[in-house]
Amino acid sequence: MAEEELPPGGKVSVFLGLGSNLGDRRGFIEKAASMIAEVEGVEWKGLSGLLETDPVGGPPQGDYLNAAGELATSLSCRELFGNLQQIETKLGRVRKVLNGPRTIDLDILLFGDSVIEEGDLLVPHPRMCERSFVLEPLCEIAPGLVHPCEGKTIAQLLEDLREKGAGSVSSHDERSET
Ligand code: ADP
Ligand code: MG
Repeated sequence: MAEEELPPGGKVSVFLGLGSNLGDRRGFIEKAASMIAEVEGVEWKGLSGLLETDPVGGPPQGDYLNAAGELATSLSCRELFGNLQQIETKLGRVRKVLNGPRTIDLDILLFGDSVIEEGDLLVPHPRMCERSFVLEPLCEIAPGLVHPCEGKTIAQLLEDLREKGAGSVSSHDERSET
C-alpha cells in the first residue's frame, strides 16, 4: 500500500525498532515508548522484551539494549518519521559518528505493506533482515508478520539469519534478570 493510499479513517499497523547504548538504556527505551504513545494519531500497542546485544559497526562502544514496538496510526509514514526524529532529539540523541553510541535509536521497520524510497526514508528498513538484534525482538511480538518485499514471515527471516550464522547477539535476555 502506498503512503497516499491510507484507508480513509483507517489505521496502518507499524513496527518499530528501538535501541539504546548510553546512560539509562532501559529508561530511554521505556520513555521513548511512552512519548510515542502520546503522539496524536498514534495508538500504541506495546513493546517486546529488552534484549542485550553487541554493537554492530561503528567505533568501540557499549552494549545495546534493543526492543521492538508495535503501533497503529492514522499518520503518514513521513509524519510518523518526523515525530520519531523529534523524540530522538528530545531524548538527547546527538549524531556525531556514523553508527556511534546513542541514547535512543528509533527505526521504522515496517509500515503496513508500504514500500517507501524517499531519500532519507526507506521502508521496510533496509538492514532489518541482516540484524538479529532487530529480528529477535520483532519475532517475539509478530512472528507471523510477512515482510512485504521478502515474502517471508519474521520467524522465517530469523531462521534464515541463524542458518547463515550471521548477526548473532550476545543476548542475555533482560526479562530473565529480574
Ligand atoms: P541506524 O538506525 O541504521 O543505526 P541512524 O539511526 O544513524 O542509523 O540513521 C541513519 C539514517 O537512516 C537517518 O538519517 C534516517 O534518515 C535514515 N533512515 C532511512 N530509513 C529509515 C527508517 N525506516 N527508519 C529510521 N531511519 C531511517
Ligand atoms: Mg536509526
